[in-house]
Amino acid sequence: MYTNDLLVGEVAFISGGTSGINLGVAKVLSCYGAKVCILGRDADKANSAAQEIRDLTGGQVLAVTGDVRDYDAVEMALRQAKESLGELSIVIAGAAGNFFAPAVSINPKGFKAVVDIDLLGTYHVFRAGYDYCRQPGSSFIAITAPQAVNPTPLQAHVCAAKAGVNALLKTLAMEWGAAGIRVNGICPGLIDETEGLKKLLAVAPDQLEKMLEQLPLRQFGRVGDIGNAAVFLSSAAGSYATGTVIDIDGGYQLGSAVGDFLTPAR
Ligand code: NAP
Repeated sequence: MYTNDLLVGEVAFISGGTSGINLGVAKVLSCYGAKVCILGRDADKANSAAQEIRDLTGGQVLAVTGDVRDYDAVEMALRQAKESLGELSIVIAGAAGNFFAPAVSINPKGFKAVVDIDLLGTYHVFRAGYDYCRQPGSSFIAITAPQAVNPTPLQAHVCAAKAGVNALLKTLAMEWGAAGIRVNGICPGLIDETEGLKKLLAVAPDQLEKMLEQLPLRQFGRVGDIGNAAVFLSSAAGSYATGTVIDIDGGYQLGSAVGDFLTPAR
């Protein structure tokens, strides 16, 4: 049973909604009454994520499969979502790939794979979403990352891809505002119990305490924190927001080289 009717009547499509942060976003939107369609490549994973959402909220959930690098597959997934659930009004591009490696060790194939999933994939979801969404009255959201604006060693590919995502969403906000489509981004910080954080801790295994000490809020975020930001951007509460990126990062991006060494007393 959903817990609030704020998003009843809305239909959300979430690429990468089959795990981690994006699954958390799908759950929160469903809790608020939206019908949701989640997309990933792995059918079993997608079906079990959809069942998890149904068990939690009792809401209407569709699982579809496809690779965001393939425009025709994305277009078909969005069409399926519209045919089953109704005209889309929330389109979220969250699918991403990541690994940690110095730029000299990333081969061009690996670099391209990340740019294709994160940046081209976001373009594909938004471009196809344009044709299947309610106009006026739709909210498009890219799940971006701090690497978009913070050059980060071992993350050249992700920095390049997510910087492109931020530029893309702002450009589309300018072009699509007149059609009544708002385009924004959410930038998560370090979010607990996610693949992203697990991979970071795998390359910096002894840094957990230090990372927490340097975070102004002294704690990792939860996937639901990102879902709550998506509710704001998708509801009437966010109706004048477009072309912006909301940082939900516990203050992560306020850090500086000096800040790395100076941790304020509790
Ligand atoms: P995750 O659990 O690994 O989720 C990635 C999702 O994308 C999965 O559903 C995956 O399903 C799907 N996916 C991957 N490649 C795909 C492709 N080519 N086509 C279609 N779907 C694909 O990731 P996460 O750590 O929660 O991160 C989610 C988002 O938040 C990403 O955009 C990431 O950049 C951003 N972010 C995460 C953090 C963090 O702390 N974790 C911080 C900042 C930003 P399949 O594998 O089945 O395809």
